[in-house]
Amino acid sequence: MNILIMGPPGAGKGTQAEVLVKELNITHISTGDMFRVAIQEGTEMGMKAKEYMDKGALVPDEVVIGLVKDRLAKPDCAGGFLLDGFPRTLKQAKALDATLREMGIRLDGVINIEVPREKLIARVTGRRVCRSCGASYHVLFNRPEVEGKCNSCGGELYQRSDDNEEAAGYRLDVYEAQTQPLVDYYATQGLLRDINGDQDINKVLKDILASLIK
Ligand SMILES: [Zn+2]
Repeated sequence: MNILIMGPPGAGKGTQAEVLVKELNITHISTGDMFRVAIQEGTEMGMKAKEYMDKGALVPDEVVIGLVKDRLAKPDCAGGFLLDGFPRTLKQAKALDATLREMGIRLDGVINIEVPREKLIARVTGRRVCRSCGASYHVLFNRPEVEGKCNSCGGELYQRSDDNEEAAGYRLDVYEAQTQPLVDYYATQGLLRDINGDQDINKVLKDILASLIK
């Protein structure tokens, strides 16, 4: 099975991706890992990407799509894959379609994890991190035993500066503006699977699996 997964920051996309690939026995392709490995292996596309990254510039779409193409051609993708973190824009989605067509690969579904905006903001703004060991907590969902103190090392818990409501809202605005055209695009193709991400993690997984069988 060949699938894509999308979801706003804080929706639990990473967690779902990890269980999903185990459940379906397919290869997880996260764009971050893909970049790292290609650079390590010194592939042509990896080196091109590194050039831009070293300059602090955005890696252009042609290079990213080249990396995706190289990755999909590897034998471990023959039994299916889950693409995570790509595409992010309509232009990238169209380029991906062209590449898949060229490679004779068909997409079976696009998972879109949805969580109401106010819930996403609450998830982000409730995060607390230990200053000493980096352990993370949540004021509602994962409270420390002693308020403001880390369970494992007793360090002081703090809120990261970009975990405030304004910054979280801004990240969501950017995400929505970028991905709405993608959502429409995959809906038109009949590939979109909207999943309610505002429920128990196991129920989310069950819904995803059920949506793929349809
Ligand atoms: Zn700690």
